[in-house]
Amino acid sequence: MPELPEVETTVRGLRPVLQDQVLASVGPRRADLRFAFPPDLRQRLTGACVTGLGRRAKYGLIDTDRGDTMIFHLGMSGRWRVDPAEIGTHDHLVIETATGRRLSLNDPRRFGSVDLTVTSELDRYPAFAALGPEPLGPDFTPAYLAGVIAGRSAPIKALLLDQRIVAGLGNIYVCEALHMAGIAPSRAGGRIGLGRLQALVAAIRQVLEWAIEAGGSTIRDYARPDGELGYFARQWRVYGREGEACGGCGAPVRRRVEGGRSTFYCPRCQK
Ligand SMILES: [Zn+2]
Repeated sequence: MPELPEVETTVRGLRPVLQDQVLASVGPRRADLRFAFPPDLRQRLTGACVTGLGRRAKYGLIDTDRGDTMIFHLGMSGRWRVDPAEIGTHDHLVIETATGRRLSLNDPRRFGSVDLTVTSELDRYPAFAALGPEPLGPDFTPAYLAGVIAGRSAPIKALLLDQRIVAGLGNIYVCEALHMAGIAPSRAGGRIGLGRLQALVAAIRQVLEWAIEAGGSTIRDYARPDGELGYFARQWRVYGREGEACGGCGAPVRRRVEGGRSTFYCPRCQK
């Protein structure tokens, strides 16, 4: 499943194809993904010029000179294909630029989504209205985190996955960051001191930036015909490594399952 770094990498890969380009055609090839395509998607985007691309949480944003923003989510299996040789059954939205570049949103499981909103109302868009700060942005500081989890007895891991506290963090990155910061996932959030929260915020930024850099190295491939945006392989410290030696101390990594979600951690390094 694409997480924040994949979405960021995808946006960076789309930028050279779309920035300042006129959209010559925008064609949904079915009525819906997870939700229906906006009925006026084609009309509002065709002929518009892309003025900027960005990301909020796990959503990609494409702004146009008509004051609209297209909002896409990659769901479980979505990816943009750049200049695909042919359009297949899982290519559900095809965009062509006036210069002849072609993009297709390919999503076999169709958990992704595409929506449109007025750019000036982006902050009030339902999926964004209650979101906390971006983990890589200036507002996500140790003091902010300390304030928002003060007195909370919930496990720090659950608090970090709460999108109202910080936007866009998924299970993998939370497991990795907690390991890097040496904090047990089950520790009550309100009982972690500011010094350890400083290490945690730094670790969250680091694991995300590493993943984006790893994705960036694959961006070069996007330039080639039939390049695919969205996924890259990584080596995790604890995630998916149950029973293997912790890179920090050599103790076996443990896995705990709660609510259908796995937590990977080192019982020796994380307190
Ligand atoms: Zn360890």
